[in-house]
Amino acid sequence: MKKLLNYINGELKAPAGGKYLDNYDPSRGKVYSLIPDSGPEDVEEAVKAAQAAFGEWSTKTAKERSEIMMRVSQLIDKNREHLAKAESLDNGKPLKLARTVDIPRARDNFAFFATAILHDEDPFYNMGTAGFNYTLRQPIGTVGCISPWNLPLYLFTWKIAPALAAGNCVVAKPSEVTPMTAFLLSELCIEAGMPAGVLNIVHGTGPGAGQAMVEHPGVKAISFTGGTKTGEHIARTAAPMFKKLSLELGGKNPNIIFADCDFEKTLSTSVLSSFANQGQICLCGSRIFIERPIYEKFRDAFVEKVKKLQVGPPLEESSKMGAVVSKPHMDKVLSYVELAREEGGTVLYGGERVPQAGEFSEGYYLQPTVIEGLSYDCRTNQEEIFGPVVTLTPFDTEEEVLRMANSTNYGLAATIWTQNLNRAHRVASEVQSGIIWINCWLVRDLRTLFGGMKASGVGREGGYEALHFFTEPKNVCLQY
Ligand code: NAD
Repeated sequence: MKKLLNYINGELKAPAGGKYLDNYDPSRGKVYSLIPDSGPEDVEEAVKAAQAAFGEWSTKTAKERSEIMMRVSQLIDKNREHLAKAESLDNGKPLKLARTVDIPRARDNFAFFATAILHDEDPFYNMGTAGFNYTLRQPIGTVGCISPWNLPLYLFTWKIAPALAAGNCVVAKPSEVTPMTAFLLSELCIEAGMPAGVLNIVHGTGPGAGQAMVEHPGVKAISFTGGTKTGEHIARTAAPMFKKLSLELGGKNPNIIFADCDFEKTLSTSVLSSFANQGQICLCGSRIFIERPIYEKFRDAFVEKVKKLQVGPPLEESSKMGAVVSKPHMDKVLSYVELAREEGGTVLYGGERVPQAGEFSEGYYLQPTVIEGLSYDCRTNQEEIFGPVVTLTPFDTEEEVLRMANSTNYGLAATIWTQNLNRAHRVASEVQSGIIWINCWLVRDLRTLFGGMKASGVGREGGYEALHFFTEPKNVCLQY
């Protein structure tokens, strides 16, 4: 069985303790590779390698760093089909999604930050005869990047690329649930001529490798994307050491649909925003609020469309939804459907596993699930499910929908659907979410701010926000 390796000091290495974890193919429910179960020893070696590489990497010109990173981007592009198939197999997502979204975005993450540093500017504050100030931004040193399983290479590179571009050396840990494309990236970094120690990839569990990274005094900043509970734990560990922290956490996103919306566009985008990647995108809308005059019409049309979503093996072109990522995750999602029933909800469609034939019979396939009849403040509507489950709730007034939309602890993303420009902007300013889409969903420009408020996170990624997070700014004041 294929054994993945860590990438430390420019080399592929077995974990120091010689232990491995099972890696599952969710489409078949079978172990198909083994990943290093790394621990503090491996992290120590990675941090030492990063510290040794820092002097040379941080003093390269932006152009020199950019050229190396562009080579990685080009190699991702050259290997995109191979990477897309690997991502689909490892995660369960439809190949088409990995091919059109995950891998192109990983390529773009490297290219975007590699070129951003060629155009960066820092402020200069002129005080006339009293002198002047300027901002000197310097890389932090060794930084840690920890990512989740839902968009594996996409989110892994979204952290690594700005960290490297800003001149840091990186110790990174992908999710132990989806490690494959991070391993393939380490091979591409070697091919691209990334200097040894600049990027180190340590595989393993959160409590094992992840915790060791967060606790290591040599790791000066942590950029984390994952669940809110894990974020809380990381914050508690890192805060007394005064590490810089960027936390991108869970969500429970509202779709707010007014009666004057463009019905067809709202309908088709809402189906997508509910069930793309099996509902396992942090930006998926999971609570759909519909203004009462169109509630029944929207509900019936939505359910009809959802029934037509083909669930099946991820590599089959006809599959619109693949497998959810793991057995524990599938069980968690199903337990929420049960909870929704107990809380008085009506399952309009879904709620069951989707049986598959032959080699896929043990895979983790779930129906897209639509539920109505729940109160906005019940657990099903307050807790993150992170799977193919949405609830439909009618509303009568703007005040009412804002109260319901803002009622959760989360504040990541929201969509607003209306043709009334004044209302669109008014509601956007009142919704407690870090990312708001009006009459669209998941339209991304990598320059824009990305992140959540409340229990959805601390700080923002994207564009210069990400580059600035990975630097330590100084104000320099001079009088002449
Ligand atoms: P998770 O929190 O279980 O794991 C995320 C990563 O943290 C993994 O690599 C894991 O190994 C590591 N980890 C776990 N415990 C750790 C510890 N003690 N120290 C250091 N690292 C540790 O999350 P998940 O189940 O992989 O991902 C799903 C969650 O991620 C959902 O809540 C989802 O909303 C969230 N998410 C958020 C965003 C965003 O941008 N806000 C994007 C994608 C996913």
